[in-house]
Amino acid sequence: MKSATTQAPILIVGQGLAGTAVAWRLWERGVPFLMVDPNEAQTCSKVAAGLVTPITGKRLNLSWRISELLPDALRFYRRIEKLLGARFYHRVPSVKLFKDAREAEIWETRRLDPELTRWINHAASPAMVDATIFQHALGGFQQRHSGWLDTPAYLEASRAFFAAQGCWQQGLVKEEELMVTSEEVTWAGHSFSHAILCKGWQQQGGRYFPWLRFHSARGVILTIKADLPDQRILNHRCWLQPRGDGEWRVGSTYDFDFDSPLDYWIEKLRGILTEFVQAPFSVTNIQWGIRPVVHGQQITLGSHPAHPRIAVLAGLGSKGVLRAPFFAKILLDHLLHALPLDAEVDVAANH
Ligand SMILES: Cc1cc2nc3c(=O)[nH]c(=O)nc-3n(C[C@H](O)[C@H](O)[C@H](O)COP(=O)(O)OP(=O)(O)OC[C@H]3O[C@@H](n4cnc5c(N)ncnc54)[C@H](O)[C@@H]3O)c2cc1C
Repeated sequence: MKSATTQAPILIVGQGLAGTAVAWRLWERGVPFLMVDPNEAQTCSKVAAGLVTPITGKRLNLSWRISELLPDALRFYRRIEKLLGARFYHRVPSVKLFKDAREAEIWETRRLDPELTRWINHAASPAMVDATIFQHALGGFQQRHSGWLDTPAYLEASRAFFAAQGCWQQGLVKEEELMVTSEEVTWAGHSFSHAILCKGWQQQGGRYFPWLRFHSARGVILTIKADLPDQRILNHRCWLQPRGDGEWRVGSTYDFDFDSPLDYWIEKLRGILTEFVQAPFSVTNIQWGIRPVVHGQQITLGSHPAHPRIAVLAGLGSKGVLRAPFFAKILLDHLLHALPLDAEVDVAANH
């Protein structure tokens, strides 16, 4: 573990989008840390499509706090890209095709909302897409400021960088192994100023934040090969994300019963895709992950009310790319500079 200062390091438990954002924020501040993660092949963050689409959800609303989150996230990813000499975040327009008459009707009102104007490409062709290939009947709209993060590449490049600096370690940190006093947290014989739990859905049932009510959602994503006449993100009951060279990712399902067979969801997604895309495709990969969702909160963070040296950053839901950088910064301002947290995100306020 590299420690350039006399400051005690911070222990980061988990290297998904949450833990990685905390690590980069600490790196930029020159605060030493050790990040521990088992480096499993298929995690929520590694599987994620990494999409950022400002207008979202059943009611076609603006994504929560997007006006402050998106510029911050873009600056954050661009800085890391510069440091690592790689490109992870790709700006790509996104087309929403209405899935039914109800959605088209909602849009008739929503599109007049002045808040939405700058997120819509008003100059997009009314035809939207090649209708001989992409089956749809009700039109749609094109979003601006959308894109996607290549999450596996970003996570692996970050892991390799931090491992080379001696501040990444493969392993598991059990919450019961953390020895906590008012001065420090000790783990595996090392002393830390804080431990930040970034375990995704696996925070559920943890020792330190047992009051968090998780309502995590499993999701399946397909990778397909298809020769399709578009290079934008397309959304019509499922989304299609262009990855270049005829490769597309297709997703994703939402389910809450993790005992239900995955095959059902895989076939459901394949069926939706077959109806939408009138062109041959072959499925080359099937992945799934569990989105960490905390009931009633967009995200949860902060320190434990009785053990302030234990903190958490969890519940990123299906917006980890957008939310992790901003809230990692907010969490560290709180831990290191005692800045207050908004009650709507504060883990202690929702105790
Ligand atoms: C199918 C699917 C599609 C998605 N699409 C998008 C999208 O398009 N855009 C978007 O923004 N988001 C998307 N998401 C959501 C996004 O993936 C999540 O918001 C984000 O990955 C959550 O990150 P996390 O770091 O909180 O959790 P995780 O990714 O689960 O990371 C937690 C890490 O902690 C590790 N860990 C757990 N326990 C321990 C322990 N005891 N000790 C050490 N390490 C531990 C785990 O192994 C893991 O590496 C999608 C998710 C899914 C499943």
